[in-house]
Amino acid sequence: MSGQDNKYEQMWRKLDLDLGAHDQLLGVLGQFYNDIYLSQQGRLKGMEYLDFVLGEVHGLRIQELTEAKARGRKVVGTFCVFVPEELVLAAEAVCVGLCAGAEAGYDQAEQHLPRNTCALIKSFFGFRLAKLCPYTSACDLIVGETTCDGKKKGYEIFGEFAPTYVMEVPQGKSAAAKALFKAEVLRFKNKLEALTGKTITADKLAAAIKLVNRRRRALQRLGALRAADPSPISGRDALLINQVAFYDDPERFSGAVEKLCEEMEDRVKAYQGIAPGGAKRILLSGCPMAVPNWKLPWLVEGSGAVIVGEESCIGARATRDLVNEEPGDLEGMIEALVERYMKIDCACFTPNDQRLDHIVEMARELRADGVLHYALQFCQPYTIEAQRVKTRLDAEGIPMLRLETDYSLADAEQLKTRVEAFVETLG
Ligand code: SF4
Ligand code: SF4
Repeated sequence: MSGQDNKYEQMWRKLDLDLGAHDQLLGVLGQFYNDIYLSQQGRLKGMEYLDFVLGEVHGLRIQELTEAKARGRKVVGTFCVFVPEELVLAAEAVCVGLCAGAEAGYDQAEQHLPRNTCALIKSFFGFRLAKLCPYTSACDLIVGETTCDGKKKGYEIFGEFAPTYVMEVPQGKSAAAKALFKAEVLRFKNKLEALTGKTITADKLAAAIKLVNRRRRALQRLGALRAADPSPISGRDALLINQVAFYDDPERFSGAVEKLCEEMEDRVKAYQGIAPGGAKRILLSGCPMAVPNWKLPWLVEGSGAVIVGEESCIGARATRDLVNEEPGDLEGMIEALVERYMKIDCACFTPNDQRLDHIVEMARELRADGVLHYALQFCQPYTIEAQRVKTRLDAEGIPMLRLETDYSLADAEQLKTRVEAFVETLG
């Protein structure tokens, strides 16, 4: 991720990036990555693959996307785990998750959005408007969704700057809500077929379902191995793997994670871990942490604790459920997609008791000593739901600390003090 390396300059120029600002961003991120990731002791050998992918995040992977486009494939960008990636792949397009985890381009974003908009929304506006993100620029279509109000209204404006399509996501889980979502899945299928000129057949969709399930299974296996004490992997590395899952080639990525799991299994057998045995074990729960939002895991693990799970869309919420692979016909597969996606327990849903159950389940399975509830400032769904999470965890006897923050480092010291005090209280 070098800001000096300009072998991709021509490609970035074609994607209409602001080369000066982009170079500066890569320089800062490279330094941040060195400090947070490469300075860790005892990392798994398999993390070299992730370091390589991150190092080439705006290089080789973008080159792959532009080559795919030259061969006639379309690139579809998404912001939310509600968008069924299987349909994108079955339409022979490439699916990329668009990160929005840095405080960049805020000046431009705030010309269109209120200042008190959550960092994630301001960030995806900023990356686009300041011409910093080659992924956004490479997209033939960007898919938004009507989850929280900020995103829903934001996409109306974002559509002026990028080819945007919005899927309607219901707010509840009734039969009527499922029917609405099914209609939206079918509308999205038609949109993709029109975009790519390819028909989504049962064979193509079955293959896409298997491919995405393979990636979910690999991440589930990795997640389960973190129940070991000492934990075989740091929370920082596990978060990075879950982040990279959104834009790497799914087949190559699954192979790399499967190999990493074998290495982790060896460590678990040998009682080896990244943090000393007895280090306090933390479950993170709440808003997604998009690349390069590594602030909180860095602070938590800097306090001597180890993060053993992420109850988040960049974590277990994205990988917990598989799509049923049994149906052999297109209609059955669409039903299976609807069933699977409607299990997502985002705080945008009401009521959302399943999420409370899942947090308790994860805390128990991963033997967490406490839960850190993380919400971005101005995110109403997660900041409000935090109260219900606290009440439930209190009843279960699981300590919880509630944190609200953004992408800036201005509150790092204050957060560190609060996290350290919380970790000290854990039994
Ligand atoms: S938290 Fe909700 S809105 Fe955000 S990515 Fe997850 S499902 Fe989508
Ligand atoms: S963090 Fe909250 S406010 Fe921001 S996009 Fe996600 S759900 Fe919406």
